[in-house]
Amino acid sequence: MTVDIIHYDAIVVGGGFGAVRSLYNLRKAGYNVHGYEKGSAIGGVWHHNRYPGARVDSDIPIYQLFLEESWDVFKFTELYPGWKEIQAYFKHVDEKLQISKDFTFNSTVTACHWNDASNKWTVTSQSTDLGEIVSTATHIVFCTGFAAKKIIPQFRNQEGYKGQWFHTADWPWSGVDIKGKKVAVIGTGASGVQLIQEIASEVSSLTVFQRNINTAIPMRQRKLTPDAPENNKNFAETEAAIKKSSAGFTWTNIPYRYTDLMPEERREQLAKIYETGGLRFVSGNFLDAVTNKDANKYCYEFWKDSVRARVKDPRKAELLAPTQQPYWIFTKRPSLEQNFYEAFNQDNVDIVDLRNDSIVEFTETGIRTTTQEFDFDIVVFATGFDAVTGGFTQVDIRGQNGLKLSDKWKNGTFTHLGMTIADMPNFFFMYGPQGPTAFSNGPTCTTIQSDWALNAINHVKKNNLKYIVPSAKAEQEWRKRVNDLCEATLFPETKSWFMGSNVEGKTIEALNYIGGIKSYVELIDDAEKDYSRDFILV
Ligand code: NAP
Repeated sequence: MTVDIIHYDAIVVGGGFGAVRSLYNLRKAGYNVHGYEKGSAIGGVWHHNRYPGARVDSDIPIYQLFLEESWDVFKFTELYPGWKEIQAYFKHVDEKLQISKDFTFNSTVTACHWNDASNKWTVTSQSTDLGEIVSTATHIVFCTGFAAKKIIPQFRNQEGYKGQWFHTADWPWSGVDIKGKKVAVIGTGASGVQLIQEIASEVSSLTVFQRNINTAIPMRQRKLTPDAPENNKNFAETEAAIKKSSAGFTWTNIPYRYTDLMPEERREQLAKIYETGGLRFVSGNFLDAVTNKDANKYCYEFWKDSVRARVKDPRKAELLAPTQQPYWIFTKRPSLEQNFYEAFNQDNVDIVDLRNDSIVEFTETGIRTTTQEFDFDIVVFATGFDAVTGGFTQVDIRGQNGLKLSDKWKNGTFTHLGMTIADMPNFFFMYGPQGPTAFSNGPTCTTIQSDWALNAINHVKKNNLKYIVPSAKAEQEWRKRVNDLCEATLFPETKSWFMGSNVEGKTIEALNYIGGIKSYVELIDDAEKDYSRDFILV
């Protein structure tokens, strides 16, 4: 069924932090704005991330909307909330801010086409309830997040496997009965680590297929009471702090390079951030932790010793935290863990090392590797995403002169400021390519970006413009800036989704702006002082 075409000032695509903030911003500023979201409620990745143990790696209070109207109204019960609590938080925000009334849910945007004659976007979405919906908009705010396209690797005879199988990003709403089952988990990224530590004590056997290790860091989870300081932080102070930070948290880095410190000082500094827990050990480490190989090796050794002290079986310890550093620590995303390493002290949990044994095929009852055969009731693919750009290229986005975004980005990603794209007028995106995305706290990044997009949209309106679009030159310069910053680090030496190298055939490049939130804020603030420098205004 096709419904009548409605025109909006802006269409927001997605339903997570960026989308909620953007919709609220735009509505408050008087725009007629509508959101399309494939899930049945707001929440974005947290609407879909329901696998056992799914939990955020950013702490409270910074993992919430930076909107004064909703700040502190919800009292979190844990420093790092689980998916159920984040869903409850979004429900609460929705009741308070009435976001859902301007959303169509269960509706996946499949195409966004710019019309050069009318200067409007035509947005097509497929709704499970209403069929195809076509609407038009002056502006698009694209907020599909960095993990919108999951990867399910294809192994021989996978379709012949008769047991149950799931991808972590598509966990059934009804849950999965894992009690007493023989379970395989393929992948040890953030999703794999969380799932493994959660289910290890419930399943009869858990076989973890590990290709690369996860250098998982202690979370140091704590319960929070409603009166806890984390539930009662000052809004203005917190907002100001995140904008001046490196990764969008309220804490700052160790203010030294590894080379500035004496050996005992190095250890003391590392121990402090490791003991405090959270992502400090990753993003708050020595200033040169990802640029200086000696600093990086030192961090790895520190981490390895700490992990090996927790794993009893020497074989498992060597697989989980190898003597020989396998890659530069922090150049793949470490997960936060609570009892991940202790789980391997259980007899029912084992590791298959895919660097020395590989999956040959699925059988009717399980998986056959080069050296072993296993029976499984359930196989879980914790195999990640076509991250950062996959959420864009899976939608048929076409800009001026019908240019397809997937063609434009075929040999490399081009954006300006990690928020706009040449040839795509009045198109803004957040938490996507060439923004601080993977190196920042999501609500921080999307707060900054949605406010910037609002200012740009206001500029178009105030000046009676048809559109704003970055110049090709600005885009080339931004791409160069993003890639040059990354080139100066150890990231390009590692295969990871940060660099696009987890997907066969994808261009290997810096997908994220690594310069930190503070410098990003300075750059985007500067850009809006005079749009005419880098944007074409028509
Ligand atoms: P991921 O980090 O990309 O991990 C995928 C895992 O699957 C890796 O261990 C990868 O091994 C393995 N893998 C992929 N293809 C494989 C194959 N064909 N055979 C064997 N192993 C294979 O994905 P993710 O764990 O879903 O996490 C993605 C990102 O989402 C995270 O980095 C994080 O930013 C975010 N996330 C956050 C949270 C949180 O905040 N708590 C939770 C979940 C996810 P290799 O390393 O060898 O490629």
